[in-house]
Amino acid sequence: MPANILNLPAYVVTALHENEHDYHIHATVKAMPACPYCGSSDLSGFGRRAQMVRDLPSRGRRVGLYIDTRRFKCNPCSISQGKTVTFYEPLPGIDERRAMTSRLTAWIGKQATKRTFASLAAEIGVDEKSVRSVFRDYINELKKTVCFEVPKWMGIDEIHLIRPRCVITNVANNTIVDILHNRNKETVVRYLDHLERKDQIQYVAMDMWAPYRDACAAVIPDAKVIVDKFHVVKMANEAMEVIRKSLRERLTPKQRRGLMHDRWVLLKRERDLTDEGSQLLSGWVRNYPELGLAYRLKEDFFGIYDARSPDEAQGRFLQWKDQITPEIAPAFLDLVRAWGNWAPWILEYFNHPIAHAHTESLNKLIRVMNRIGRGYSFEALRVKILFAEGAHKRTNGRPKLARKKVSAQALKETLYWKGREGMEAVGLEGAHFFHKPRVTPKPLPKASSAELPEPPKNYGVGISTLTRLLENGEL
Ligand SMILES: [Zn+2]
Repeated sequence: MPANILNLPAYVVTALHENEHDYHIHATVKAMPACPYCGSSDLSGFGRRAQMVRDLPSRGRRVGLYIDTRRFKCNPCSISQGKTVTFYEPLPGIDERRAMTSRLTAWIGKQATKRTFASLAAEIGVDEKSVRSVFRDYINELKKTVCFEVPKWMGIDEIHLIRPRCVITNVANNTIVDILHNRNKETVVRYLDHLERKDQIQYVAMDMWAPYRDACAAVIPDAKVIVDKFHVVKMANEAMEVIRKSLRERLTPKQRRGLMHDRWVLLKRERDLTDEGSQLLSGWVRNYPELGLAYRLKEDFFGIYDARSPDEAQGRFLQWKDQITPEIAPAFLDLVRAWGNWAPWILEYFNHPIAHAHTESLNKLIRVMNRIGRGYSFEALRVKILFAEGAHKRTNGRPKLARKKVSAQALKETLYWKGREGMEAVGLEGAHFFHKPRVTPKPLPKASSAELPEPPKNYGVGISTLTRLLENGEL
């Protein structure tokens, strides 16, 4: 029997049966165990049991491993305790609780971000519940290996993964740092509350969703909440769309043909219109004054965002509001109300106009996720995003601005002399080389912080990289 068919060196293969769907491999543990209580190898056999465990599928077939597990009696323990002390031999490389090889559980963890639980379960020959449970453990292990920097500029947005979820971003780095199960206040509060360095958050850009704002007020009251421009101007486009659609409904088919491509032309900013576009537009404005007014209001609303201060913006808004005629007021009602309810946070934008690259790339990611997300659980999608290999934005912890080379030994000594405070200053608290140096160091010339290495940082999952990987089917 080829021993390497299993490729588990701790086992001896004793028999192999195969059929169209399965391999059944019988094996025993090669080495003799020692008593787990006293370490003695003075053991007597005390029976066996057959254990079936699942292994990695092989050549398209499911693999069942039948391990003839030996039970032993420990002679010294039995004498000293005056009763029979027995144990089953340990099974190396096997997760006995799950009846799977460890390499199978590791493989499931990785595969589950690329495939659905159902297809994995079928390939291995277990139920979906087992796959889900292995995957949960895999995530918990992964979580311990990754720690994202708490953003100074946090974004709280919405992403649709089966249902609307809350996505936490690092606005300055254009990365995702977490995805929360839902958009409730309690969920966001719990998330913010658990962040170790929540004091680092200075600004939070968000949509007009009161639970986000309330959560921030409760946990990080000093952080400035800012309603992102994108979410506000979007409402002006939507208002114009309402007018355009209701107009279309009232037109004859012939008139409607004259409005070809109206949506695209109207959604464009005036300054971006082609000659053809602006000709079309001026024609429509002549024929349908209310469409012209809606377009003008949309453009003027965008124009509010050219203001350079909150006061100027509020002034522009009030002027803008006066232009709304009763006939088209209902379409713009939501926008006017939103401004009323959120004015302080909308206006805060004008103190901190942030880049929108992140909202746009996030929207692109959301579209891609909608396309490929079917059949996955929320947890699988979340992990697919957060632990996407190759999409993390990191610094690698090189010394910044090293004017002079500092040897590793000198660095250890410096850190030693600087003591725990010094370690913390460079973010190395708890690092493994906090020990006494081999040689007694001379006090070093003042090492400026510029010469000490920065600890590596992970800013989260690069949104653009992630989108590209997903589009190319590389995740
Ligand atoms: Zn013993």
